[in-house]
Amino acid sequence: MTGTNTHKTHSHFDVIIVGQGLAGSFLAWEMINAGQQILVIDNHHHGSSSKVAAGIINPITGHRINLTSGFVEFLDIAKTTYQQLAQKFGQDFLKPIDQQRLIKNPGQQNYYLKRLEQEDYHPFVHTLTTQVDQKSSLLKNAEFGIGNIQQSYRVDTQALLKSIGEWLTEQDALWHEKLDYQDIQINNDNVQISAQKKVSANKIIFCEGFQAINNPWLKNLPFKCAKGDILTVQLDQASKTMLNWGHWLLPTSKETQQAYLGSTYHWQDMNLEPDNTLAKELIDSLEKHTTLKATMVDHRTGIRPTTINRKQLIGLHPQHKNLYCFNGFGSKGCLTIPHYAKLFTRHFSHQQALSELMPEIDTILSVNSVS
Ligand SMILES: Cc1cc2nc3c(=O)[nH]c(=O)nc-3n(C[C@H](O)[C@H](O)[C@H](O)COP(=O)(O)OP(=O)(O)OC[C@H]3O[C@@H](n4cnc5c(N)ncnc54)[C@H](O)[C@@H]3O)c2cc1C
Repeated sequence: MTGTNTHKTHSHFDVIIVGQGLAGSFLAWEMINAGQQILVIDNHHHGSSSKVAAGIINPITGHRINLTSGFVEFLDIAKTTYQQLAQKFGQDFLKPIDQQRLIKNPGQQNYYLKRLEQEDYHPFVHTLTTQVDQKSSLLKNAEFGIGNIQQSYRVDTQALLKSIGEWLTEQDALWHEKLDYQDIQINNDNVQISAQKKVSANKIIFCEGFQAINNPWLKNLPFKCAKGDILTVQLDQASKTMLNWGHWLLPTSKETQQAYLGSTYHWQDMNLEPDNTLAKELIDSLEKHTTLKATMVDHRTGIRPTTINRKQLIGLHPQHKNLYCFNGFGSKGCLTIPHYAKLFTRHFSHQQALSELMPEIDTILSVNSVS
């Protein structure tokens, strides 16, 4: 264990959670509220996904204008949880945003028109504006129209992590440290951590995001992590709505004309140093598809915990009955983590089987080689 904290009070916990990104934060929130004694350990890695994320919840994605599978149910639970957090911390972490989507070609226009006729798309896919006044529109080259997408949201992930972190600290339930794997001992009936102070728990849940690829118990899980870059930019004029042309622009403040511009996807290069060519890629894309001019104010790079089959990695280690993984939330954590954190907590507090709670997921982890 590396770090300098001194820890007091408890030495035995119901659960140790490794990681205080969105996954560990929502899980700690649910579990503590369900009466579990929790210790969270987090090393605040600068490339962790939650610190970099723009926090967009977007019902409609992809070339085919697809509704995210399970969106209505996910959003329902997410709204309830963000509302509970707002009440507790006196801050709205979830805010609705209007979204304008550039329709890029006749094929995509056909999909959009088809979606307009489908009842399940009615809450999300609204009018296609085809007579675009190019003098007033911020999106350029809109000859195939601009779609109006409803029920998009933005989560202030940084504020949320900070509030939950402070709340955990008040309860002496957060260690700011890197947990070294050699300090963890997985026994038959408990888990022990030997650090400056020895602690034990009935169970350990790893919520390490992309860093799980180094976890000796989980390293063979089917991660296919994706590096991503987001810029904070100063615009020459304010945009009232989120603009989406494949990349996107998300206004953060009308007063300062600042916005987030993102995001890139790279599967091979995992270097976390901000790369100027990627920043240029985003600015060029903005200037090609909009009438806006932008100056970069900040550049953040992080790694999404994405998976080969795009499924979450939630479940129990096949050999160690007290070792769990809660990970694999890819690029949609703000939408899906609140839902799965609630279900996962029900498994612990009501002893409901994970396979019943989330039948869409293989809840016995397929780790192949076992430590
Ligand atoms: C560029 C980019 C843009 C994104 N945009 C969006 C978006 O708009 N909307 C959306 O929903 N999602 C977005 N995402 C994805 C979103 O960030 C993830 O789905 C989500 O944050 C994953 O959270 P996590 O807690 O699983 O992982 P992480 O955020 O990586 O958190 C893991 C935590 O565990 C800690 N940790 C790991 N190992 C250890 C250890 N050994 N000891 C102690 N601590 C440890 C890390 O420091 C970290 O704090 C984006 C991601 C990126 C990179």
